[in-house]
Amino acid sequence: MNTGNTPTSSASSLVPHTQPRRAIRELPDELISQIAAGEVVERPASVVRELVDNALDAASRNIVVRLQAGGVRLIAVEDDGFGIPRDELTTALKRHSTSKISNLQELESVGTMGFRGEALAAIASIAEVSLLSRTADAAHGWLLNARFGDLQAAPRTTGTTVEVRELFYATPARRKFLKSDATELAHCLEAVRRHALARPDVGFTVWHDGKLLEQWRACVQDDGDTALAQRLGDVLSDDFLAESLPVRREGSAVHVWGRIGLPDVARARADRQFAYVNGRYVRDKVISHAVRSAFEDVLHGHKQPVYALFIDIDPARVDVNVHPTKIEVRFRDGREVHQAVRQALDAALAAPRAGADNAPAPAPITFATPTPTAQPPIGATTSEHLPGFWSVPVASAAAFQTPQRPRDDVIGHQVRDLQALWRPTAAHLEQPPVEHPSDLWPLGRAIAQLHGIYILAENAQGLVLVDMHAAHERIVYEKLKQQVGVQADRPLPSQPLLIPATFAATPTEVATAETCIDTLTQLGLDIAPFSAQTLAVRTVPSTLAQGDAVELARSVLAELAQHDAATVVQRAHNELLATMACHGAVRANRKLTLEEMNALLRQMEHTERSDQCNHGRPTWRQLSLKELDGLFLRGR
Ligand code: ADP
Ligand code: MG
Repeated sequence: MNTGNTPTSSASSLVPHTQPRRAIRELPDELISQIAAGEVVERPASVVRELVDNALDAASRNIVVRLQAGGVRLIAVEDDGFGIPRDELTTALKRHSTSKISNLQELESVGTMGFRGEALAAIASIAEVSLLSRTADAAHGWLLNARFGDLQAAPRTTGTTVEVRELFYATPARRKFLKSDATELAHCLEAVRRHALARPDVGFTVWHDGKLLEQWRACVQDDGDTALAQRLGDVLSDDFLAESLPVRREGSAVHVWGRIGLPDVARARADRQFAYVNGRYVRDKVISHAVRSAFEDVLHGHKQPVYALFIDIDPARVDVNVHPTKIEVRFRDGREVHQAVRQALDAALAAPRAGADNAPAPAPITFATPTPTAQPPIGATTSEHLPGFWSVPVASAAAFQTPQRPRDDVIGHQVRDLQALWRPTAAHLEQPPVEHPSDLWPLGRAIAQLHGIYILAENAQGLVLVDMHAAHERIVYEKLKQQVGVQADRPLPSQPLLIPATFAATPTEVATAETCIDTLTQLGLDIAPFSAQTLAVRTVPSTLAQGDAVELARSVLAELAQHDAATVVQRAHNELLATMACHGAVRANRKLTLEEMNALLRQMEHTERSDQCNHGRPTWRQLSLKELDGLFLRGR
């Protein structure tokens, strides 16, 4: 504003800063509503949201939304709810009039979408509004014209129709802010979509300019997961459904459920993120941060995860009266919610998945209950039935079985398993071979290596293709993370090199090695100056003992140089581990024996999040027999 003392410039005539004092007066009702409308109604989609909220609060089973010109010319919402009695119609349009709460106590535990009693009044102050409603016990409906206040009898089945015409006609300045009809229509549709995902039990229909745009039928299933799955398929496409995972965490205070998209269907825009608190669509930092952190190391670049998540929480533990549009909420204990969401997603993402992308998902592999069926030897049946020429050597193959153990045990044994992966030890030969068909392995039996990059395996569904570097990298990374987690403050288990590996280092590398000595020790690395321009690597993490020590040292130093050495926070820590894993993982073009390939497949089955590499790319794909048949036009 003008801060000068001379009110003579041309700007001062536009921005008068010296106004004669006027008497204090109460604002007229109409103006109060118009001011309130500025907060509640930003665009046609806001009206759609408020009217559908009201229809849902009236226990409707079917809701029809009719729009014209992107909602600017007309928004009509028709429902079959319990209606409004004749003598309450006029009150419904008044400011601060509601049937939903009557005291503070009810506000604190409100279960309806509305409660502020201002939406209809606000909308009526900036548009032409009419209400047509009939309750079940009335002989006919009543029509109220908001502008003239006249009531007349009109035909109607039980329910309510609210018509809103010429939005912002009274406030042309606001109207100018509207975008094209197509854009406004898209926003209106998104508003209906948000409601529809939360209420699969209600049918929704949307018309635009006389054309049917969307119709989502009510789902009759009692089971919430099934109903949600059906509605998600209808509203967001069947692809979303096929490429998503169920989430469910029953907590004592916070209950989290819904579906999340697989990391490889994450999108460039955050346009498929639906979060609900007690059935209300919200945009909330606590929730979105928890989701992001769960996806952190399976998501590629800046991709946005896809999800429909429902958080059910005691209404007394969340304040919904934070924002007029109620799109923001305040949790009494944000940490509790963050943790619940994070844990729910971690569990969903970590469960190793098997089977074809579009086949029904087989039962998840659980570590907790060891079953004897999970330890078949490799190639046992094949070698018996195939001529010797094609057979797999059974004795050596059997050496690589990875018996399933309770989970903690698996963690404890993984160092050995990983080493055994590349260097078979006699210990493994002691396991007695057990007769079992190899199709019990979700990722199947290795049959070949392709171009030094892919492993081909045969499972019950058909062909499995594995990116061996990506898969092994994930296994090593998860292993390192577990070691860090289990060890708390103790360094990663390390192993001295027989002959220290020296390399010519840059001044930055030498300086970083000196300043980050504690972090390096923590990571199981001993990198010390050998001369002014030489560094020597003396110890490496045992898990990475097979890799190139110099390359490992170089990339860790490069990464450390970018961070504030004193505070290598969790995130940076994981990045470091990922870098290290990349070096520890088997390189492309390394010829693997069938035994090594099978060992890798079994490791994948036992490793959390093994379906994506550390950069969010898939590590394996299933080609079903049906898809293969399709390639050859079989059975047509
Ligand atoms: P709020 O929803 O916050 O109560 P509104 O201004 O949106 O405030 O609505 C005012 C009142 O009008 C509601 O409390 C409700 O009693 C009634 N009402 C509005 N729309 C409907 C509807 N579709 N069916 C039944 N009653 C309705
Ligand atoms: Mg309302």
